[in-house]
Amino acid sequence: MPTSPVPTVREAMRHVYDASLWRHGPRSGRRRHPRHRPVVGSKASLVIFDKDGTLICFNEMWTPWVTDLVRGLEQKTGLALREKIFTDLGYDHAASKWRSGLMAEATMAQVRDQLKTRLQQEGLSATDSNRTVDSVWEDTTSVSRKQVKPLDDPSTLFKLLRDVGVKVAVCTSDSRAATQQCLREMAAEPFIDLLVCGDDPNTEPKPSGHNALLICRALGVRPTEAVVVGDTLADMGMGRSAELGATVAVLTGVGGVDDLTPQADHVVPSIKHVLRLVAPEYRL
Ligand SMILES: [Mg+2]
Repeated sequence: MPTSPVPTVREAMRHVYDASLWRHGPRSGRRRHPRHRPVVGSKASLVIFDKDGTLICFNEMWTPWVTDLVRGLEQKTGLALREKIFTDLGYDHAASKWRSGLMAEATMAQVRDQLKTRLQQEGLSATDSNRTVDSVWEDTTSVSRKQVKPLDDPSTLFKLLRDVGVKVAVCTSDSRAATQQCLREMAAEPFIDLLVCGDDPNTEPKPSGHNALLICRALGVRPTEAVVVGDTLADMGMGRSAELGATVAVLTGVGGVDDLTPQADHVVPSIKHVLRLVAPEYRL
């Protein structure tokens, strides 16, 4: 049971209204110096969005996919694997929801490795585990990645950000092929300046700051003028590791206020609150 009460939306939103927090960064230490260098002016130059749980519904995207994957593995092996694999990947059976874990934070290669490890733990040889996972993986990947349910309206938000001079990037652990399909279905592709995916060469899994710095460099933006928006501690960790101007947590994915607050400079209910945060002068 959680030790603190669930915060109200008003409490979760309190950071949004603290304009000085954005301008000067969260304070720390006895002299209350900003923890980050102040963002130049009051507007961000770049927003780096996570995908799953931030732009699209995590549960509708991944629960059917994992279900199909488990069904395939059970058929091939004759083993009962559903509960163990869902647990391995970060599903909380008691709460009937996904939590922070491999499915929410890891690359697809890391998820695939975990499945192979699980089959070995169930008694299969390394060779049989690899062969089984590889064959089921291909079948599943090709059929069930169409469960895209956008959260709020990502394409409209991206367009508004671009209109006010804020660049937009998406940094996800998912594969490039699946991510491009997802963004195309949301009609968001034309408004994205850069996309970095988990299977791109020369990238590193979150919470490394590597991908965020890569994006800043490619788009000619100083890290302190960039913001990361995501639903997990891995997203916040990437922002902190890269020393971005701010980390913004949304509550539409796997992370809760209690999980995210220690690493998030701002906690907001969803991405529709991001525009006001990163471009305070802008009025709809
Ligand atoms: Mg996410």
